[in-house]
Amino acid sequence: MEKCAVLAVQGAFAEHEKSLSRLGCEYIELRQASDMRKSFDRLILPGGESTVMGKLTRELGMFDELKSLITDGMPVFGTCAGLILLAKSVDGGEVHLGTMDISAKRNAYGRQLGSFSAVTKVGDIPDFPMVFIRAPYISELSAPAEILAEWDGKIVAAREKNMLATAFHPELTDDLRIHEMFLKM
Ligand code: GLN
Repeated sequence: MEKCAVLAVQGAFAEHEKSLSRLGCEYIELRQASDMRKSFDRLILPGGESTVMGKLTRELGMFDELKSLITDGMPVFGTCAGLILLAKSVDGGEVHLGTMDISAKRNAYGRQLGSFSAVTKVGDIPDFPMVFIRAPYISELSAPAEILAEWDGKIVAAREKNMLATAFHPELTDDLRIHEMFLKM
């Protein structure tokens, strides 16, 4: 059976694990370099603080291996800070893995809209409930990356080959359709 690895050095990884369990998908946690030797078929980069996750994965000696798994084609799903980790360019922060042809603008909605929710179509999925928490948006995207969702004129979800990224947090809702889409990638 397929196994999904969840980067578990910081942030909202437990919520992704819950979504995976509800879908009957086995998972392991990546907490330290030795965990990278476990066998897994796909990867989730959760929400949290991209600066902290970037720093910890480097310090823990996981960074290069994460990057090569992704460039070698392992399916990866980045939510919020995870999207920032994947972005090739970051407005308001450092570039981390930089594997996806998107630019992320960090903390893009300002203080008054720090956290909010909205509903929109994500790819083929109608009416998806999006939860944003100090979220980025995608300020630029170039092929082969493609837009999956926009909200308020901003790109909030995208896909490129083996990479899926959302500025919002599907794992904080009961709606499993985006996780399901990821598990089919
Ligand atoms: N603001 C965070 C960052 O820049 C992302 C917030 C989140 O993941 N909920 O990394």
